[in-house]
Order: sequence, then C-alpha cells, then structure tokens
Amino acid sequence: MRETALALSGLRSRDLYGVDLSLRREATVEDFLHHERAVKVSANAMASQLLEASGSEVYAGSAAFLDEHTVGVKSLNATAHGDPAPEPEVLLRGERVLIATGSTPIRPPIYPFGPGVYDSDTILELTRLPHSIAIVGAGVIGSEYACTFATLGTQVHIIDGRDTLLPFLDDEISTALAAAMERCGVTFHWRENVESCTKDGAGRVTLELSSGQRLVVDAVLAAAGRGGNTGALCLSAAGIRVGAHGTIEVDEHYQTSVPHIFAAGDVVGPPALVSTSMRQARIAIARAFNEADQATAPRPLPYGVYTIPEVGTIGETESALKKRGAAYLVGRARYERNFRGRIGGRRERLFKAALRWR
Ligand SMILES: Cc1cc2nc3c(=O)[nH]c(=O)nc-3n(C[C@H](O)[C@H](O)[C@H](O)COP(=O)(O)OP(=O)(O)OC[C@H]3O[C@@H](n4cnc5c(N)ncnc54)[C@H](O)[C@@H]3O)c2cc1C
Repeated sequence: MRETALALSGLRSRDLYGVDLSLRREATVEDFLHHERAVKVSANAMASQLLEASGSEVYAGSAAFLDEHTVGVKSLNATAHGDPAPEPEVLLRGERVLIATGSTPIRPPIYPFGPGVYDSDTILELTRLPHSIAIVGAGVIGSEYACTFATLGTQVHIIDGRDTLLPFLDDEISTALAAAMERCGVTFHWRENVESCTKDGAGRVTLELSSGQRLVVDAVLAAAGRGGNTGALCLSAAGIRVGAHGTIEVDEHYQTSVPHIFAAGDVVGPPALVSTSMRQARIAIARAFNEADQATAPRPLPYGVYTIPEVGTIGETESALKKRGAAYLVGRARYERNFRGRIGGRRERLFKAALRWR
C-alpha cells in the first residue's frame, strides 16, 4: 500500500523531475489495494510451494488443543459465522507442537468497530478512500498508515497520549521523521487520549479528546497495539501459561511451560517482526529435535519502519549511550551533501551513527 501510494501520488517524480505524474482522478480503493492483493496472492502461492516441497501436510482450518498432545481442526466454514462450532473434523497428535498463530489487534471497547472504524487488520476492508482519517496510536503501524494515507492526499490526524514519535528511535531521527510527516500533511495530537468515539448516520465519526477537542472524520484507525492470537486455541487444555495481552510465555529456546510445546513469532510478543518470527521458529524446532544448531536470537536486532521517509535502525541510540555514561562518537551523513542523494532526489535523508568506544 505504501508503494502504491508513492506511485499514485507521483511524490517521487515530483521530487526528482519537478513533474507531476500523479493520478489524474481520485484514487479508488481498487487502485489502492490492487498491488497489495496481487502481492499477497503470489506470496501465499510461494508459501504453499515451500510447504509442499518440504512434504508438510497442510490442513485448512482453525486448530484448538484437546489435550497437550492433541489438536482438533475445524474447517473454516464450520467456524465462519461465529456459531458454536461442531466437533473438529480432524484430530492431530504431535510428540512436539509449535504454536505460531500470530497476533491480533487489541480492540479497546470505546470504539464501535465496523464500517468507518477500523483496526490494523480490518483497515484492509476499506470500501472507499477516506478524505480524512484519525489514527489513534503513533506506534510503528499507526505511523506507517498515516504516511501512506497522507501521501494519497487524505487529511490525517494522529492521536497519542505520549509526546514523542516512536520513542525507541534516536531522538534526532524521531524529530526529523515527525517534521517530514507534518510536511506531508499529518497533524499530531500529542498528550491526548480518546474519551469517546461515535458514528453518525452520514458515515462520519466523531472523536472526543481528553483536552476537550473534537475531531470529525471519515474514518478512524485504532492502532492500539496487538496481542497474541490465542483466543481460539484452548491453551488451558494443554496446560500452557498465557502472558500479557494473550501472548505465550517462552524461554530463550521458545519452549513454553509445557516442555514438548514451543511457541514463536508474534504469539510470544515483541519484537514481532517477520525476520525474527522466522528465526524464532527455527530456534524452537532445533531445540524440539535436539538439533546441534541451537542458535539463539540475534542481538542487536535491525528494525525497518516503513513510514515516508522510511527509517532503518540497529543498536543503541545516542540518548541511551548518554544515559549510561558511555563514551561515544557521533557521525552524520546528510543526503543533501551527497551527490548520489541529490541525484536520487532524497535531500532530506540523514544517516547517523553513534559509535561507542568504551
Ligand atoms: C500493519 C502491519 C504492518 C507490519 N509491517 C511489518 C514490517 O514492515 N516488517 C516486519 O518485519 N513485520 C511487520 N509486521 C509484523 C509481521 O506481520 C509479523 O511479525 C509476522 O507476520 C509474524 O509472523 P507469525 O508467523 O508469527 O504470524 P502470522 O504471520 O500472523 O501468521 C499466523 C497464522 O496463524 C493462523 N492462525 C491463527 N490462529 C489459528 C488457529 N487457531 N488455527 C489455525 N491457524 C491459526 C493465522 O490465520 C495466520 O495465518 C507488520 C504487521 C502489521 C499488522
């Protein structure tokens, strides 16, 4: 969606050639989601090929534990309409079990989710591009969607109870990113909480903020974080302990409180990234089969944030080094001083390194 927004908005061409190659009509949701859907189809095809090549048996359905070695699988249409599902059609017994059921958006009760009010999954069900959107939560997901919608010309408000964008980032990078987002049309409402969220008959949504400010918009995205996708798993039947927000507690080998059951990926909580999820699952399986290669999770972890402009970061920030009194050196490279940066039309970009020497 981000790439589509950049293409449809002609942002890159404007920066580079001073010419406007933007879409000559209002973008539709079909335009916006076409590429996303095409990539998703090809990605799923690739995953199926990999599973097939590995000789894995794949069961399409929703799984739940019956006991610590047995899971029952109910076909998707058996569970589709939320009715109490009948008995599982398939029973699978495993000497070892890996849980990798991902995460699900946290849905605070004040939001009337449905058309006009979305979470970080249902936002993909948009039926038309909103002229204005309020995004609650300036975390990674909220910030990424804010940039994508703003680049497409949607008026974007971000509401957050804190006063800093992505506080895990280096202060200077966080400030530069916030400034770039404001130039792109994003309005920040810091130190604000949402007191109420109501929809009217005309498809407008009203947010009452803690300062008394009122925002009336076409759509709301509640990006209030994600929790472990464990609600349907009957973990108690396997005796597995559940942590905060439905995540599963594991040790450094991703072993749960039940020795032959492992868990990896978003279901165990942060960092909750594609790269780390894959690595965690490999570590878990190596441990489950007592394979020699019992690597542990890599440290430090590289992070990519797909805002516009995007951010890449690894290791400690300058403020973290300062806080613990470490001696360090800072180096900066600004794209505007680099001809390659100018050629690429990315003048506002910055590379910063804080090198600790003792
Ligand atoms: C908006 C958004 C943007 C993101 N951007 C990035 C990014 O830029 N870079 C990055 O690294 N990560 C990003 N992530 C995070 C990334 O998507 C996750 O870290 C990754 O998908 C986790 O992989 P997983 O295998 O743990 O879970 P998932 O990929 O969620 O897979 C879990 C699977 O389990 C299935 N499942 C769940 N419950 C059951 C059940 N009971 N029975 C059977 N099947 C079940 C689900 O249907 C799903 O197919 C983003 C996430 C979101 C929501």
